[in-house]
Amino acid sequence: MNFFNNKQGVVAQLVYGALLIILIVVLISINSFSIIKKYKIGLNESLNNQAYIYAKSIYTLLRDNMGDNELLQKKVESLIDRNSEIKNFTILEPREDGFEIVVSTNKEQIGKRTNFYLYKMAWNQKDYQGIATDAISAGIALEEEDKKFADDLLRQGGNWFVALPMFNQFDQKEAILSIMISSQFENDITQKNQISSLILTMVTIIVVIMFLAITLRIWDYALLYNKMKEVDKMKDEFISMASHELRTPVTGIKGYSSMILDGSFGEVSESAMKGVSIIKSAADRLAILVEDLLDVSRIEQGRIEIKSAILDPDTVIKEIIEELKIQADSKKINLLFRPHKDILPKINIDPDRLKQILINIIGNSIKYTEKGMIEVITEEKNKKLFIKIKDTGIGMSSEAQKRLFQKFYRVKNDKTKEITGTGLGLWITKRIIELMNGNIEVESIEGVGSQFSISFEIK
Ligand code: ADP
Repeated sequence: MNFFNNKQGVVAQLVYGALLIILIVVLISINSFSIIKKYKIGLNESLNNQAYIYAKSIYTLLRDNMGDNELLQKKVESLIDRNSEIKNFTILEPREDGFEIVVSTNKEQIGKRTNFYLYKMAWNQKDYQGIATDAISAGIALEEEDKKFADDLLRQGGNWFVALPMFNQFDQKEAILSIMISSQFENDITQKNQISSLILTMVTIIVVIMFLAITLRIWDYALLYNKMKEVDKMKDEFISMASHELRTPVTGIKGYSSMILDGSFGEVSESAMKGVSIIKSAADRLAILVEDLLDVSRIEQGRIEIKSAILDPDTVIKEIIEELKIQADSKKINLLFRPHKDILPKINIDPDRLKQILINIIGNSIKYTEKGMIEVITEEKNKKLFIKIKDTGIGMSSEAQKRLFQKFYRVKNDKTKEITGTGLGLWITKRIIELMNGNIEVESIEGVGSQFSISFEIK
C-alpha cells in the first residue's frame, strides 16, 4: 500500500470510528428517552386510576348526606383541611341552563352556573362511571366560557380532574361531584428519576466513547493522520525544492550537449557523438520530469496561475499539431486536424495552459501508438467546445481508465514497459483543465485505441 492509500485508510478509520460513536450515542439516547416516555405514560395511567378511586371513596363518604348541601359543604371543608392533595371540590346540580354549583371549596363559586363540557360528559356517560382526566386535557375547553372555567380550576393547582354523577336513595342521578387532585408528590419523584436517568445516560455515553476510542485506536489514527499530513507537507516541500535545484544543472547539461552535437565545440568522434546524444535525450527526459514535478508542487500549493484570454481554439490546435508533427512523422503516424465545419466561437481560457494540455494528450497519443493515425477533432455542442484526441494506439483496460488521472499512475504491461514516463502528465492535465472549469474524459479499447475528450464552456 502506498503513502496515499495509507492516508485514505487512516481517514476512513477516523470516519468509521466517529460514525460508530455517533450511532451508539444516538441509540443510547433514544433508548433512555423512550424508557422515560413509557414510564411517564405508565405513571399517568396509574395516577388516573388513583384519582378516580379517590373520588369514588369521597363519594361513598358523602352519599348519605345527599340533598343537605350545608352539611355537605362542612364535610367538604373538613376533608380539604385533612387532605392537602385535594385542590378543588365542587358539587353541582343540573338546571335547565347548565349546572349550578351548590357546594364548593371556593365559596365564591356557590350559586354560579356552568356548562363546562367535562361536567356534561360525566353526566351523560352511559355507564354512570364519570370521567377522570389530567388537568391539561381538562383545560382544552371548547367554548370561551368553558375556557375561563377550566383556567380557574387549573389555577388552583390540581393535576387530575375527576367528575362523577351522584345518585340519591332512589338511584336517580341528582348531582355531580367534581374534584381536582394534586400529583405534586409523584411529579417531584418523576423529575428526580428523570434527572438521575439522564445523568446515568451521559455517564454511559462517555464510558462507551472512551471504550470505543481505545478499541478503535482513534487517538492513534488521529496522531497518525497528523503525522501523515506533516510528512505530506514535507514531501511537497522536498519536491518543490529538489525540482527547483535540479532545473539549473539539467538546463546546463541540455544546453552543452546540444552545443557539442551541433558542432559548436569543433569536431568530435562518432562514438563520442553517440554518447553525447544519449546524454542529451536523458537530460531531455530529466527536464520533463523536473517540469512535471514543479507543476505538481505549484498545483498542490495553489500557486498555479491561470491567465485567461479570449482565443480561437483552432489556431492554438494548429500550432501544436505543427510542433508535434515531427514526432509523429518519425513514427510514421498520421497526425490530422479535423476542425468543426463552422467557425467556432472563441473561448476564454489560458492559451499557454491549453497548449500544455494539448502537448500532453497528443504527446501521449504519439507515445502510446505504434501505427495508424491520430485525429484532433473540434466540435461545438450544448454551449460547450469539445476537443477530441483520437488515436489507434495500444488502448487501455477499463481498470486502467479508472485510475488514469491518479498521481504517478502508469499502466504496466508488455507494451508499455519500454516507454518512459512519470505518470504525472494526466494528473497535471486534469487539474489544470479543472482550474479552467473544464472537463476531461477518456474512452478506450485495449489494442484498438483511445479517445480523450476535453470540454470547456463557451461564454
Ligand atoms: P506518462 O508519463 O506515463 O505518460 P501520463 O500521466 O501522461 O504519464 O499517463 C498515464 C498513463 O496512461 C501512461 O503511463 C499510459 O499507460 C496511459 N496512457 C496515457 N495516454 C494514453 C494513450 N493515448 N493510449 C494508451 N495509454 C495511454
